[in-house]
Amino acid sequence: MSDERYRQLCALMAQRGGRYPGMDIPEFYEMTRELFTPEEAALAAALPPKPAPAGVIARETGKKEGEVAELLEAMASKGLCSSFQKDGSRLYMGVPFVPGIFEFQFMRGTRTDRDREIARLIHSYKQAVDAARGPQTITFPANRVIPVGETIRPDSKVHTYNQVSTYIDNYAPIAVSTCFCRHEGKLLDEKSDCGKPDDVCMQFGLGASFVIERGMGRKVNKEEARGVLKKAAEAGLVHASMNTQEIDFICNCCSCHCMILKTALSQPKPGRVLYSGFQPRIDPDLCTGCEVCVDRCPAKASAMEGNVPEVDGDRCFGCGVCATGCPAEAIVMEEKLGVQEPPLNRKALRAAMEAKG
Ligand code: SF4
Ligand code: SF4
Repeated sequence: MSDERYRQLCALMAQRGGRYPGMDIPEFYEMTRELFTPEEAALAAALPPKPAPAGVIARETGKKEGEVAELLEAMASKGLCSSFQKDGSRLYMGVPFVPGIFEFQFMRGTRTDRDREIARLIHSYKQAVDAARGPQTITFPANRVIPVGETIRPDSKVHTYNQVSTYIDNYAPIAVSTCFCRHEGKLLDEKSDCGKPDDVCMQFGLGASFVIERGMGRKVNKEEARGVLKKAAEAGLVHASMNTQEIDFICNCCSCHCMILKTALSQPKPGRVLYSGFQPRIDPDLCTGCEVCVDRCPAKASAMEGNVPEVDGDRCFGCGVCATGCPAEAIVMEEKLGVQEPPLNRKALRAAMEAKG
C-alpha cells in the first residue's frame, strides 16, 4: 500500500516539473521514504495545484478535516509543502522538488545526522536524474542575474526589475536564511566549504512569511537586508533569481556550489543562458593590471590581454562582481543592448519556456 502512495507522489512530482521533477527510479523512493511518511506521501500526491484551506483538501481527499490539518501543518514545518495566511484563511500548497522541497530542507542551516542523511539521499537522486537525462540544453533561461547596484554606470537606463533596491523597498516581510546550496555541500563534505558567507539567502513577501513562520529564516528590516546584499557583493557572490520581473527570492551564489550558476556553467556559452542585461566596461587608463577582477570572476569570463583584462561576452553573467572588487575603480557596468526583458511572472516564464521547447 505504502509503495503505491510513493508511486502516486512520483507521478505528481513529474507533473509538477521544476529542475528535478519526479522520476521513477530507486533513488526517488529512497529519498521520499525518508522525507515523507506514507500518510504524508498520500496527502502530498492529492494536493490541489492552487493554494487551498485544509477543509477543501479534506473534502477532496475524503478525509476528516482535523486529521488533514494536522498532517498539513507537520508537512509545512518539514518543508514538504508551503503554507501561508491569506485574507484570514490558512492555505496550503504543493511545491516542486526544485525550487521547493530541496531548498526548504537546508535553509535552517542545522547539522544533525538526519540532515546529513537527507543531503546524501537528495544528492544521489539529483545525480541519478542528471545521469538518466544526459546533458541538458537551456533553450530559455529559468534564472537571471541582478547586477550589483553600486557598480552600474550612473547615466545608464536601469529598469526597476534590475535594481535590487526595488525589491528591498517594495516587499515586506523580508527573510534571510542559510544558503541551501552551500549548506548541502557542507553536509555532504565539510571540506567542500568555500568560505563564502552562508547567511545570505533572501526571500520576499509570502515566501518570506513562510520561512519565518517555520523557523527556516529570520525576519530582517530593510537596513539589514541592504547590509546582507552588500556583504554578499563584497564576498564576490552573484545576485540571482527567477528570470521574471516579479520575484520572491534573491540567491547570493558562488560558482562552486550554487545550482543556478553551476547549471549555466555547464553550457558552452554560460553568458547566453544567465545574464543581467549589463556588461562591464573597463577604463584602461585607470586599470593597474592587478588581476583582482580576473580572480573574482565567477564565470571565468575575464582574462588579461597584455596589462588590461578583456571580457568574453559569451561567458559573462553581467553580475558586477569584477567591478565591486576593482581597487582602482576602473570598471563600471553598462547596459547591454538588445537583451530581452524578463517575463513578468512565473506563469509568463513557464509559457516562454514551453514555447522554446
Ligand atoms: S566579467 Fe565576470 S565578474 Fe565581471 S560581470 Fe562578467 S561574469 Fe561578472
Ligand atoms: S581589478 Fe581593476 S585594476 Fe585590477 S586588473 Fe581588473 S580592472 Fe584592472
